Amino acid sequence: MSLAQQLGTVTGDAAGTVDRHATTGTFDSTDPATGAVVGTFPVHDEDAVRATVARARPAAQAWAALGFDGRRTRLAAYRGHLARRLHELADLVHRENGKPHADAVLEITLAVDHLAWAGSHARTVLRPRRVNPGLLAANHAATLEYQPLGVVGVIGPWNYPVFTPMGSIAYALAAGNAVVFKPSEHTPAVGAWLAAAWRAAVPDVADALQVVTGDGGTGAALCRAGVGKLAFTGSAPTGRRVMAACAETLTPVVMELGGKDAMIVDDDADVAAAADAAVWAGMSNAGQTCIGIERVYVTERVHDAFVAEVEERVRGLRPGSDDGAAYGPMTMPSQADVVRRHVDDAVAAGGRVLTGGTVDDRWVAPTVLLDVPETSAAVREETFGPTLTITRVRNAEEALERTNANAHGLAGAVFSRSRGRAMDLARRMRTGMTSVNSVLTFAAVPALPFGGVGESGFGRIHGADGLREFTRTKAITRQRVALPVDLMSFRRPAAAADVLARAMGLVHGRHR
Ligand code: NAD
Repeated sequence: MSLAQQLGTVTGDAAGTVDRHATTGTFDSTDPATGAVVGTFPVHDEDAVRATVARARPAAQAWAALGFDGRRTRLAAYRGHLARRLHELADLVHRENGKPHADAVLEITLAVDHLAWAGSHARTVLRPRRVNPGLLAANHAATLEYQPLGVVGVIGPWNYPVFTPMGSIAYALAAGNAVVFKPSEHTPAVGAWLAAAWRAAVPDVADALQVVTGDGGTGAALCRAGVGKLAFTGSAPTGRRVMAACAETLTPVVMELGGKDAMIVDDDADVAAAADAAVWAGMSNAGQTCIGIERVYVTERVHDAFVAEVEERVRGLRPGSDDGAAYGPMTMPSQADVVRRHVDDAVAAGGRVLTGGTVDDRWVAPTVLLDVPETSAAVREETFGPTLTITRVRNAEEALERTNANAHGLAGAVFSRSRGRAMDLARRMRTGMTSVNSVLTFAAVPALPFGGVGESGFGRIHGADGLREFTRTKAITRQRVALPVDLMSFRRPAAAADVLARAMGLVHGRHR
């Protein structure tokens, strides 16, 4: 059976999708390196999406009723299923997204680790807890609960087709919700594979994770389908459209958007380590990483040494689809045009090309640009290609100022041997995440929340915050004993307010 046929069955009943409602035809997903068809998928229209969400509702109830232990064991079965088929899934990611097989293995490994953390920490983070009722309600018990939202819609991008959506899916499921996932139209086979794997690993609540396929229209339908929350990962322009659609029904949203992450290399940095990390974070996955480094600000003391180290490392890299390639093609053809525009604009504005600068169809040479003005698109906008701009600055303060001058605020990195100095810079970096003396590491720490500020979005996935993101907070008070005087009654004595005012004076009045 061809892969397209296999995936055909995956997108049918096995994945819990509803082909019979898909009235707007099918689309192909293709291998970006060869153009070969990887699979053919239904375009789920509004009716189909609504039907899928409707089917998810009873599943959400059954899933929530399993409790923390029931969900933990089933999430463990799911991650076991993924871990045993890691190479199979990595092969599909390689063919549909174009990244090297080894990078796909790394991506899936991270996703499995997040599944493990979410499943095993949900009880600790979300269990109902008693809180101190305080002075005014001392005769009551106060309880705080984190209840599931029901059905969560997840819309994902193509650049990390397993890790990125799993950051929402794993945490939403662990918090007791069912999920309807709309993968990118560039990586539907990976999405369908993940849903089929769920169905195989967790057959008793198979509809707790379902997939719908299609382009932005299918995503917009999911926004309007009455889900309890919509977790969106993608670009800021699409994020605005998603928010507008969700606003119609007051559906809350999590926005994981693009970035323009910077690395700061200070006077006392390990220059070789910083160069190595910058090249990896800028070029791996063909630079199509939301938390990839796109800008580097280097103090003048170490600038030339840093540039020499970067140049030496980049010279050994090339794009390709074979085992020796450092990274693959641009997954979307249109992204190559963005990279070309940014490089041309940078050069026209006086920037120098240290390496690369060429875009051949979908293949972009590893490109390092020097002396690019801060006003250029290559410094201001998300490039999403294997490019780095390196800029000389007087000191780390100037580097921080330039880092923070960007509208995005996803993540970044600081390289310095001084712990105090590095931590201070990291704290003042206007981003949701920063790594010191490494790159991207926060994404591999499941206990740490993931998300940005400004144009990079809001809300958090991963960690305890990520679990709470997919719940509604519920506050309950229960009167334990009735007091002789009830202040919230029309029958309270006339003097009660004065007694209360005097008591407040005694407790709080001494503070000036
Ligand atoms: P995109 O915004 O083009 O598409 C993302 C998803 O939204 C796709 O599934 C698409 O079909 C869907 N969509 C498009 N129009 C829609 C609409 N009107 N309503 C609802 N859904 C719609 O992004 P992309 O090109 O797939 O991904 C690349 C972007 O994602 C980059 O900007 C990258 O930085 C960002 N990203 C962010 C994170 C993060 O965690 N912050 C992670 C990965 C990628």
